[in-house]
Amino acid sequence: MPQIEPSNAFSALGLEPAIVLALDDLHFVEPSEIQRLMIPAALTGADIIGQARTGTGKTAAFGLPILQRLDLAHSLQALIVTPTRELAIQVEAEMVRFARHKLARMIVVYGGQKIQHQTKLLERQPHVVVGTPGRILDLNQRGSLPLANMKFVVFDEVDRMFDIGFRDDVRKILALCKAPRQTIFVSATINDDIERMVHQHMTNPQRIFTAKADETLTNPEAVQYVVGVQPWDKLRALRCLIHHEQPGLAIIFCRTKRSVDKVAHGLCERGVNASAIHGDLLQNQRERVMRGFRTGKINVLVATDLASRGIDVHEISHVINYDVPEDPEAYVHRVGRTARMGATGKAFTFVSLGQAQLQTEIEKMINHLLEEYRIPGFTPSMEPSKRPGALPHPAQDGRPSASGEPTGGVSASLPATPAVDGYAPTSFTAPEPTLTRRPISGRFPTRRRR
Ligand code: AMP
Repeated sequence: MPQIEPSNAFSALGLEPAIVLALDDLHFVEPSEIQRLMIPAALTGADIIGQARTGTGKTAAFGLPILQRLDLAHSLQALIVTPTRELAIQVEAEMVRFARHKLARMIVVYGGQKIQHQTKLLERQPHVVVGTPGRILDLNQRGSLPLANMKFVVFDEVDRMFDIGFRDDVRKILALCKAPRQTIFVSATINDDIERMVHQHMTNPQRIFTAKADETLTNPEAVQYVVGVQPWDKLRALRCLIHHEQPGLAIIFCRTKRSVDKVAHGLCERGVNASAIHGDLLQNQRERVMRGFRTGKINVLVATDLASRGIDVHEISHVINYDVPEDPEAYVHRVGRTARMGATGKAFTFVSLGQAQLQTEIEKMINHLLEEYRIPGFTPSMEPSKRPGALPHPAQDGRPSASGEPTGGVSASLPATPAVDGYAPTSFTAPEPTLTRRPISGRFPTRRRR
């Protein structure tokens, strides 16, 4: 056991020297809020439901106490379930870093990788298994991953797990973990569904909430804008925005895999260093894209919600919602990709006429009015079907505008097209929420405040 002075802020939370030393190696100096609250509670063995924004250090908040409480004489003691492969991979990597001065063994299991390979990994008798719900159940049914003796069970990003449709799998996993256990749920938002699950599967849970009533749910460091733009202008507006902002690392969210591909292609055509990531990519392709993004070889990632979960890259400077999320909780997760751990960031959300209600739902959810933003140099164009000589069918989202496109890469100058029909981005306004609309610093009471 390495000798250190257990004197830093993490040892004050009750963490043992081997863990404190690993945190020291990682240059973790101050615990984040969720860590300060959750670590001492979890060290007592209590069941916990923790609400924390993404990127606030929640992995360490649940991972460190588990690591400390593991009995290294027994394998298969802790199960950490995540909604996506990317998050599973990151959580396991983070746990390995935390355990560098302990002899705890970790593995990660997820769909899309050969099950035989994972069966082999399980033969090494790991102490901690991190994985996605489907693959965990699959391995359990094959007899390779008995769950009956798990002493620690964590469900990370539970809200997302439910959104994706893993509710039954969560139930099945909990039913299979029969031994007396410590159960921890971590989620950015806590809704009635999650509360019901907590009621059924936890004993005297401690509730740890970090998004207080007077805070917004998204990172306050992220400046959040809304951009009024019509569907046929979106790709041009996006290029213009990227040209103007010159983001270090950006994620652009689209609703479908098809639009992800189209947008990535449309950006690459103009010399933007963009790559698509979505569920149709093979696991090794996804990993290659993520490696490129992490190392800065790719600086614009175009993604679906699902593929973006768990992307933990510190320096993401911009999140652009090319398609406004239909579920306001998805907005919280998307914007949570930027301004992580105290860094700053910007989030832009494209909203077309007819989508105002979605904007209102988001504003109510995050307790904050989005600031309207006009992209410098961008002027909206006429609806394609109304242009002189237009074919009867309107052009689809992302097609080149009638007035032409920039031609020479990110730094190309962007010709403006004339505004038509009196429509201008800033003329867009969302309908009044049912609550009184107040200035940007005003607060809406929301359903989820505690
Ligand atoms: P998470 O919310 O667990 O995804 O953590 C976000 C990122 O912050 C991860 O890359 C962590 O390694 C890092 N991190 C977590 N806690 C701390 C801390 N106390 N000090 C510095 N970095 C941290």
